Amino acid sequence: MPKRKRPSSQPASSDDIEVDRYVPGQTLPPKWSPDAYARWFFDFLRIDLATLTPGQLLGMRADLWAFVRPEIVLNTSWGDEHLPPAETLEAFQRDARAGIQRVREGQWFTLEQGIGYGIARLGNQVVKGRRSGTFEDLFRAAVMDTVQAFWDRLYECPRCHAIFLKVGKQKYCSSTCASRAHWDAFKARRRARDHHLEYARRTQKRLGANAKVRIKPRRAK
Ligand SMILES: [Zn+2]
Repeated sequence: MPKRKRPSSQPASSDDIEVDRYVPGQTLPPKWSPDAYARWFFDFLRIDLATLTPGQLLGMRADLWAFVRPEIVLNTSWGDEHLPPAETLEAFQRDARAGIQRVREGQWFTLEQGIGYGIARLGNQVVKGRRSGTFEDLFRAAVMDTVQAFWDRLYECPRCHAIFLKVGKQKYCSSTCASRAHWDAFKARRRARDHHLEYARRTQKRLGANAKVRIKPRRAK
């Protein structure tokens, strides 16, 4: 049976565009899911890029592309290379953090050039599409959508002050910050211990409550 051909003049619906957005190296699921993509994004904001291996960096670049899901890229700040190069990732982190900070302070976080789009007929329907912009603006638009959708789940980590997406009863941005905070608390408790008093109590317990425990002052060295 001959394959049915779709007339090429017909616009693709936005549902068609969702299909198969896989970029080689991508670790994000090819099918867009708001939760998984938001989690990736807030992890991306906190990551120290200098600690990544070349393979992880490639994955990060592919994931950034996948997160933005660009349809029509008008231009990029990095020239011909397909994916955002490793050295641009930090600028994207900074840009997004600054935007979120503006929102937290009650200011507007805005696009620089703007996003273009159009409508076209698809069968009996009219669909919106041809979303276009600079890669930087398409990134900002994706950040805005994510921040807007997950605003009530965004928290500041009490240990490192980074913004993170809260899952369940999570208190810190990462297991690293959680264990550092627990270690800090543990050390603070240790410092507060009075070893002389503890010794006196231990001895009293051993000798009986009436025993007087005299603690010799420490000799100066
Ligand atoms: Zn933290």
